[in-house]
Amino acid sequence: MDLRLFNTLTGATENLVPLHDREVRMYHCGPTVYGYAHIGNLRSFIANDILRRTLEYAGYTVKQVMNITDIDDKMIKKSADEGVPLSEIANRYEDVLMADLRHLNIKIPEHIPRATEHIGGMIVLIEKLLREGYAYPASDGIYFEVAKSKDYGALARLDLNAETESRVEGAADKKSPRDFALWKFWTAEDGENVFDASFGRGRPGWHIECSAMAMSELGETLDIHTGGVDLIFPHHTNEIAQSEAATGKPFVKQWVHTEFVMVDGQKMSKSLNNMFTLKEIVEKGISPAAFRYWVLGAHYRAKANFTWEGLQGAQTALVRLAEHLGAEVGTVNEDYQRRFEELVTDDLDTPRALALAWEVAKDTSLSSADKTATLLDFDRVLGLGFVPHVDVVIPNDIKELILSRETARTTKNWAESDRIRDEINALGWDVLDTDKGTEVQKKN
Ligand SMILES: [Zn+2]
Repeated sequence: MDLRLFNTLTGATENLVPLHDREVRMYHCGPTVYGYAHIGNLRSFIANDILRRTLEYAGYTVKQVMNITDIDDKMIKKSADEGVPLSEIANRYEDVLMADLRHLNIKIPEHIPRATEHIGGMIVLIEKLLREGYAYPASDGIYFEVAKSKDYGALARLDLNAETESRVEGAADKKSPRDFALWKFWTAEDGENVFDASFGRGRPGWHIECSAMAMSELGETLDIHTGGVDLIFPHHTNEIAQSEAATGKPFVKQWVHTEFVMVDGQKMSKSLNNMFTLKEIVEKGISPAAFRYWVLGAHYRAKANFTWEGLQGAQTALVRLAEHLGAEVGTVNEDYQRRFEELVTDDLDTPRALALAWEVAKDTSLSSADKTATLLDFDRVLGLGFVPHVDVVIPNDIKELILSRETARTTKNWAESDRIRDEINALGWDVLDTDKGTEVQKKN
């Protein structure tokens, strides 16, 4: 079955036509690793995961790349403040992110390039842009000349005749306020974090990182590129300008953007200081799977309003839905399967897919075994961690200990994690660490 996706570039929902037969090559802008991801970021990673799982469900193979930005101003500042190398900051928060992704049952992309491992490719790209007259040196770095770009701002529907954006950064001697840095020349604040290039020692700008990593892993034209809506301008706009100037080819066929998580009418963000992390949610007794259920309850292109009541409601709903799974697994109901595939391949309509899961759960004409098989089939996309229901009731105090231990593990507090495991053991349960998180079994 074909996948229909809303394309930010054309403003229309389109059939996906991959460039390489049934293989879909897609790139996700990953995090800058200098702090905890907030749940707005995590929503966007869950949306990427739903896209990947839907493609696989529909029979495509997927080549999936998510980058890690491991060098930037904020990271360099944090490394100087803490007096530790940049790589230590990067490794620490990359580990935290990977733990979050695993807790959320997100399939980890096979390719996770780090910016500092791709500096060579960035330099080659910038040399080409300089040679062909798209880039020029200014006092503090190499800039891309936006006026030379064809259709600049099409993705963000920028009105280039209107006032230029208020946030103008970079050298006073750049040719236009819209020109952006491809390379920043070394300054004392950068310390050891410097790379040699034919056009001067320094480090890459943020936008060039993604162009270089995406094209080196996936080729000059990608099937799909995703990110949060906040990346449409300037990040993705600038990725398109520099990549297409360098190759003369379209950079991306389908642009997919996930909306914000809102808190009291404002977007959740580090700068507004209204963010929550997965750790904070787990500490309030909400499981990562319940958070995932909550995310799927809103379409990825709609804003999601964060409330604790909403999360609590999602947790209750997920537990009730999972109670409809039986111990025996029968045959997947083809009619429901067809309807499910139609919904998820229609621009990833997860709210209606969840509603269909409930319809299956409540369908008295289905046997328990067939119901179970059908819900497990849906879970290949939903990723809620359904398992055939075994009649063992885990007491609440054990459940709470499991959550506390997962939190300790997320924060790498191994001593606390071991202490809680011993406590669970002492209460008569064995602890198993699986891909899906912590599980317990009653001791014989
Ligand atoms: Zn990016």
